[in-house]
Order: sequence, then C-alpha cells, then structure tokens
Amino acid sequence: MRKKIKYNYGECEICGTQMQEKLIKQDFWLRGKLVIVEGIPAGVCPRCREKVVKADVGRLILKLIENSKRIAKSPKISVPAVKFDAEEARV
Ligand SMILES: [Zn+2]
Repeated sequence: MRKKIKYNYGECEICGTQMQEKLIKQDFWLRGKLVIVEGIPAGVCPRCREKVVKADVGRLILKLIENSKRIAKSPKISVPAVKFDAEEARV
C-alpha cells in the first residue's frame, strides 16, 4: 500500500502557484562525494519547478547521508563529469 503523505506546502515563493507534494531526488555533496537521495517528499511548484523540503525531512536526510554504513550498502551509479568549457558551450 502506498502511504499518502498529505502536507500543505502552501504557495510557491517565486510564482505563487500552489505547491504539489511529490517524491523527488536530491543530490548532496558529502566530504567530496556525490550522494543522491531518492524518494524525498517535497513540495514542487508545477509552474516553475521550485522545490521546498520540510525542516524535519531535511534533518532526516542529513541523518541518512551521515550514516556511512548505509552509504556503503547503497547502489552506486556512475555520472558523467563534464569539464566546463566556455568555447564548446558557445557552439
Ligand atoms: Zn513557482
């Protein structure tokens, strides 16, 4: 059964549209390593994609990513590392 978390995130600070609750992916840099946390409940603006995460959810995320055992057990993905190149970006 899917747990329905209903929380009113209010209106978007940027454009004033009612935020909708969605499960999002967020990336964090932790001691020089990129960690991605999936399934975070957050308010997402359907118009400008602004995201808000509740303070208690934010604290839980920090707890998760500070757990080095959990990090070690998590699946690894490889991500492209693109070097900034102003010349190439202009083409
Ligand atoms: Zn917005």
